[in-house]
Amino acid sequence: MSIAKTLLTRCDSKCELCGSTNSLAPFAVPPKTDITVDNCVMICDTCTAQIEDADKMDVNHWRCLNDSMWSQVPTVQVISYVLLSKLASESWAQDALDMMYVEEDVKEWAEKALLSDGEKPRDVNGVELKKGDDVTVIKDLPVKGTNQVIKQGTVIRGISLGDDPRLVSGKANGGQSMYVIAEFCRKK
Ligand SMILES: [Zn+2]
Repeated sequence: MSIAKTLLTRCDSKCELCGSTNSLAPFAVPPKTDITVDNCVMICDTCTAQIEDADKMDVNHWRCLNDSMWSQVPTVQVISYVLLSKLASESWAQDALDMMYVEEDVKEWAEKALLSDGEKPRDVNGVELKKGDDVTVIKDLPVKGTNQVIKQGTVIRGISLGDDPRLVSGKANGGQSMYVIAEFCRKK
């Protein structure tokens, strides 16, 4: 079964946060970026837009978190916890947070999400790096745990992003996949 189908079955074709049936799509809960069943919530376009742009956050829309926080799905718990934390200046949101019971790993994930919020990998010039970009390494970098060095000028094509916004990964010279520090790269 495809990821989308699995998620649609899990959420019963309703937004896992607000219950809307409009334009549902998988959303990877930060700092995860991969669309997998275990990384995603299935949510509507209204929820997605408000999560991606804090300026669009409508406090009343998020009253739905009072229900979604009781979901059995870990990613729904994570995103509910994150959003309630952002809304904690509202007394109802703070009350909900106080009532919410989450497993330790859910809490850790949510805290990472809050920390990484808005933090994106940036190259030496401060340009945001995105999945699939090609970058040039700007100085000789030792490869941890080996005596190899990634030479200055090495091109890494089609980078991936991981949980840590300071790092990007990719293959240099068609070799093994490696992590490099984003600020030691320049976007091509
Ligand atoms: Zn929604």
